[in-house]
Amino acid sequence: MEKTDFEELILKIIKDIPKKFKEQMKNIDILVDYDSTTTAYSKVKNNITLGLFQGTPNTVKPGHNIIFPDKITIYKKSLDAISKNDIELEHNLKIVILHEIGHYFGLSEEKLKELGCHL
Ligand SMILES: [Zn+2]
Repeated sequence: MEKTDFEELILKIIKDIPKKFKEQMKNIDILVDYDSTTTAYSKVKNNITLGLFQGTPNTVKPGHNIIFPDKITIYKKSLDAISKNDIELEHNLKIVILHEIGHYFGLSEEKLKELGCHL
């Protein structure tokens, strides 16, 4: 999948997030790493990192004076590696984005598994 299509897909997935969650999502950067096949931080899918949330979960933030944005990184190469085709890539990307946003809202791996937001 081309970079532009991939980025448009991310925007579409975020657009489709229910309003009640989107309203609470502030100061989050979503970045795409097109090059790494890092295995750092990995707890998922055969030691491949698909996405990563870096920041303080919304649930433990004191007040609203946030200076540094939280960051979600999407690892395109890793997603490509586990996806057979573009349809599967779209599905996996959606789950990874929702999973990392779940971490933003303070959800645990177990809770995200329960909700089906886990690959
Ligand atoms: Zn996770």
